[in-house]
Amino acid sequence: MTDSKVRKLKGIAVSSGIIIGKAHLVDRSRVKILYQYLISDQQVNKEVERFKDALNAAKDQIIHLKNRMPEQIKRHSFILDTHLMIMDDSMFFNATINAILSEKINAEWALKKSVQNIEDLFSQIDDPYIKERIVDVEYVAERVLRNLAGKELESLYEINERVIIVAHELSPADTSSINIAKVMGFITDVGGRTSHAAIIAQSLKIPAVVGLESVTRQVQDGTLLIVDGNTGEVIIDPDDDLIILYQEKQLNQERFESSIIRLSHLPAETRDGHKISVRANIEFLEEVATAKDHGAEGIGLYRTEFHYLRSQGLPSEDELFEDYKEVAEIIAPNPVTMRTLDLGGDRFSSEISWTKETNPALGLRAIRFCLQQPRIFRSQLRAILRASAFGNIQVMFPMISGLQELLDSRKILKDVMGELDQEGLAYDRNIKVGLMIEVPSAVTVADILAKHADFFSIGTNDLIQYALAIDRVNTKVADMYQPLHPAVLRMVRDVVHAGRQAGISVAMCGEMAGDPLYIPVLLGLEVEEFSMNAMAIPVVKRVIRMTSLAKAKEIARQALLLHTVEEVNDYVTREMDRIFPDIFWFGRPLANNLRQ
Ligand code: PEP
Ligand code: MG
Repeated sequence: MTDSKVRKLKGIAVSSGIIIGKAHLVDRSRVKILYQYLISDQQVNKEVERFKDALNAAKDQIIHLKNRMPEQIKRHSFILDTHLMIMDDSMFFNATINAILSEKINAEWALKKSVQNIEDLFSQIDDPYIKERIVDVEYVAERVLRNLAGKELESLYEINERVIIVAHELSPADTSSINIAKVMGFITDVGGRTSHAAIIAQSLKIPAVVGLESVTRQVQDGTLLIVDGNTGEVIIDPDDDLIILYQEKQLNQERFESSIIRLSHLPAETRDGHKISVRANIEFLEEVATAKDHGAEGIGLYRTEFHYLRSQGLPSEDELFEDYKEVAEIIAPNPVTMRTLDLGGDRFSSEISWTKETNPALGLRAIRFCLQQPRIFRSQLRAILRASAFGNIQVMFPMISGLQELLDSRKILKDVMGELDQEGLAYDRNIKVGLMIEVPSAVTVADILAKHADFFSIGTNDLIQYALAIDRVNTKVADMYQPLHPAVLRMVRDVVHAGRQAGISVAMCGEMAGDPLYIPVLLGLEVEEFSMNAMAIPVVKRVIRMTSLAKAKEIARQALLLHTVEEVNDYVTREMDRIFPDIFWFGRPLANNLRQ
C-alpha cells in the first residue's frame, strides 16, 4: 500500500551510495543584521573590542576544526587557511574597524558594509573561479556575525546520532568537521557537482545529493529519508515497500563494490589475453597510497599545479624535487608521468601576475605559459629530472598544438640536462618524453609529433572542449560535452594510428578513460593505457577483464559507422547494459561520482 506522505525530490548526485536514515536539520540561516548608531566614544571603543573578540573566536573555531579534520580530507585544509587569511585581510578587518570608528556604527553593520565592498569588487572580476571565492568571504562573515550574536554555529562534529544531515548549504568548515562515524551522508538545497561540499563527500566516501532546492522546507528533524547518491533521488517519509526496495539496492551495491575492490589488484587483461595498463591521475603526493590501494599500476598523470596554487610564494626547486622523488619512490618500479605545469585557463597562481584575457582557455595556458616563463619552467624541469634518479619518471608537456612548441620544450629540457651534468647531479638520461594530445591541431599533425616523442597521452577533457567548442566548466552547455561524439571517436582513432605508425605508445588520461561506459569502445580503438581517478580503477579493471579485445573492436567498428552522437550513445549504452548490467547500474555512478 502506498503511503500518501511519501514525497520524492530529485537533485544532483555528487557522491555515490544509498542510505536510509533520519534527518538532522542544520540551521544555516543568516543572522539578521540591524543598524545601530553608537553615541559615545566609549561605546565605539567597546564595539571595536567586541568585533575583535568575535573575530578571534572565529579564528580559534577554524583552527580547532582544522586540527580535527579527518585524515582523508586533510589536503583540503587550505580552504580553512584561506578563511583565516580573509579575516586578516585589510578589506575585511581594517575596513570594519575603520567603519565602526568613523561612522560610529555597530560591528555587525560595519562588517556588512565591508563584505558588500568586497562583493562589489569581486563582481567586476571575470574569472568564474575567483568570482566564486566570494562565498568564502561570506562564510567567514557569517561565522563572525554568529559570534557577535552569541549564536555559535552548531558544529557537525558534535552530532552524536547516526543521521543524514539536511541543510540549505554547507560551508567548507561544515564539511571539514563532519564526523563520519555519525554522519551517514548529507543533502542540501543548493550546491553543484564541483562544490567544495561535493568534493569532501567524495573523499569521505559518504553519499550526498545537492541542489534539491527546497528540501530544508520539506523535512523536519527525525523525518525518515532515503538518499540515493547514484541517481540524486531523495525520498521523504518512504513507505515499507520503498524501504525494502532500497535496502535491496543498498545490499546489491555493497556486494558489487566489495567484489570489484577484491579483484582490483588483478591485471587488467582482456578475456583474449590483451594486457592494458591502468594507472591513476593524482594531484597530491598523498593520493599515491589510495591509487596503489585501488590497483593502480603507476601514475599516468601527475597534475603538478597544486604547489603553485597555494599562496605562500612559488615553490622552490628543492621542495618540488622532494615531492616528486617521494611519488616516484612510492610507485616504483611502476612509472609516474609528470605533467609539466598547466597554469592558466581556470588555474591561476596568485604569485604570478596574470594579464586579463577574454578567453583564458584559449590564452596563455600550460606549455605556452611555460615557454614564456622559462625561469619557472626550468626550475620545475630540474626538479623532475633530479627526481628521475629515484624511480621511473616520464615527463609530459600539456597543450602542445604543433611541432615547434614540442621542439622548444625539448630544447629547454636538454639545456637543463646539460646544466645538471655540469653540476654533477644525477638524473635518468633515458627519461621518456611525451605530450598530451588535447588540442585538435595536435591530432591533425600527430604523425609529425610522434616522430619527436616517446608517447602520447590523450587529454579528452580539453580535447573535447576544444574540438566541440564546449567550455568544460560552463554548466549551460554541459550536456553538449559529448565524449561519444563521432568527431571525438575519429580523433582517438587517428591519434592511436599515428602513434602505432611511429611505434610509440598511446595512453588516455582524460575523464573519458575512467568511465566504464566508454571503456569497450576505447579498448576497441586500441588505446593501450588508461589513467583515471583512482576510485574508478576497480570498475574499469573489471570491465576490461570481462571484455575481449575482439568484441571491443567490433563495438568500436560499429560505433565509428554511426553519424550522430545520439546514435553512438544509444548503441554503446545498449551494449553495456546488455553485457555488464551490474556495472552499468552500480559501477558507473561509483566511478563517475568520485572525481576529484
Ligand atoms: C585533459 O585535458 O584531459 C587532462 C587530463 O588535463 P586537465 O584535466 O588537467 O586539463
Ligand atoms: Mg588538459
